[in-house]
Amino acid sequence: MSHEGGRPHVVIIGGGFGGTFAARRLAKASVAVTVLDRSTTNLFQPLLYQCATGILSEGQITEPLRAMLEKQKNTRVVQGEALDLDPSTKTITVGRRDGSEFELTYDYLVVAVGMRQSYFGHDEFEKFAPGMKTLDDALLIRRRIYGAFEMAESLPPGEERQRWLTFAVVGAGPTGVELAGQIRELAERTIAKEFHDIDPREARVILFDGVEAPLNTFGPELATRAVKNLEDLGVELQMGVMVTDVDAEGLTAQSSTDGEIKRFAAKTVMWTAGVQAVDFVQRVAKALSVDQDRLGRIGVERDLTVPGHPNIWIVGDIMALNNLPGVAEVALQGGMHAGRQIRRHVEGRPRDVEAFRYYDLGSAAYISRFHGVVNFHRIRLSGFLGWFVWGFIHLAFLHGSRHRSSTLTTWLYSIVRGRRTERAYPLGDMSDAEGGRNPLI
Ligand SMILES: Cc1cc2nc3c(=O)[nH]c(=O)nc-3n(C[C@H](O)[C@H](O)[C@H](O)COP(=O)(O)OP(=O)(O)OC[C@H]3O[C@@H](n4cnc5c(N)ncnc54)[C@H](O)[C@@H]3O)c2cc1C
Repeated sequence: MSHEGGRPHVVIIGGGFGGTFAARRLAKASVAVTVLDRSTTNLFQPLLYQCATGILSEGQITEPLRAMLEKQKNTRVVQGEALDLDPSTKTITVGRRDGSEFELTYDYLVVAVGMRQSYFGHDEFEKFAPGMKTLDDALLIRRRIYGAFEMAESLPPGEERQRWLTFAVVGAGPTGVELAGQIRELAERTIAKEFHDIDPREARVILFDGVEAPLNTFGPELATRAVKNLEDLGVELQMGVMVTDVDAEGLTAQSSTDGEIKRFAAKTVMWTAGVQAVDFVQRVAKALSVDQDRLGRIGVERDLTVPGHPNIWIVGDIMALNNLPGVAEVALQGGMHAGRQIRRHVEGRPRDVEAFRYYDLGSAAYISRFHGVVNFHRIRLSGFLGWFVWGFIHLAFLHGSRHRSSTLTTWLYSIVRGRRTERAYPLGDMSDAEGGRNPLI
């Protein structure tokens, strides 16, 4: 597949934060841009857990890439999975959804394919403990959470019922904390009075991590606040433990201090503990003869190009530079930088290498209704103010006014009434054999 028009062809692999911001920077450049993604939508990952717990719909946290880039006349969107790369012929091999393949050739390439969940060498856990990286993951977790209460309702009192009413979340970073808090909150506020034989308020939510406190990257002050908020919500904390095994009936955790091994019975286990670069990055590293770090990321030059390949940029979560974190701001600023560099080059302006400068906008996490934390340089916010600023930041970063207004309305409804309107999910197998993953979603 080649691009008509005779202009230099920029291929951007990945339509996430990094890829779409790179494309936007090229809107007025004299290039033809192709945005390739295996999905058809741009996903706002920071609110995935709200989709999983029934507050927001799939449509509120996604935007079709075609609609997003519709007005950008030099840009087209192609759905397909990048499978391989040949820098000698500047060709990318792409897989279609039906298994067939085609090729794309490029003059400039931006790779922004992001991360996937890491199970630290235990991919067999995934079957029992879905991660939280894609829309499919969020819908699966939605089914696992609401489906667990349905299972418990039809069981007689006893151990089996209690197992269905126990939820284990592995990983106490922002996503794990948000997910654990939301499950307790929906059990207390949303579905508390909807069941007859069970009391959803008795649901146990247990949060596991090897570190000493949840949200430890936010510093000790905010981590202490998070502990109090989570405990007030009824989340049980198992900190300083490593999860060593997961199966259909629960998990095993080992204390990092005294080595004690404990078994926790839970029918629903969710994994938010680690990330690693998606598999395609391995192909890229091999083809370009460069190394990957512990997380599978590729080290880049100061201008975000790959050493020895001045026409290939690595952007976002998969780029390793100065220990920058895998957050949306790094990805979108990196995408804009790559787009700007390509434009300068095409316009014939001397490409004296412009180093990427990251402006740190801090980090924020939601704990529960009226409780959030924000870390911005020396400013630390928690409680209501932290929650309010968290909401403001997330609304500001959502794509377009339609998403912002509908999300704000939904939030207000959910805050005031405690209702969650997005509780539908495709029926799937809740049995051990399927691991709950429905092939249809
Ligand atoms: C649950 C969750 C919560 C988060 N919360 C926050 C937060 O509160 N604040 C914050 O700053 N950051 C947060 N992040 C991190 C933030 O979302 C990422 O840093 C950001 O999305 C990275 O952007 P990216 O462009 O590198 O990758 P992504 O946004 O992941 O985009 C990668 C794109 O590449 C596509 N792709 C992957 N492989 C291929 C392939 N082989 N071929 C074609 N396309 C491919 C994917 O479909 C995807 O569209 C969160 C992440 C998650 C998962």
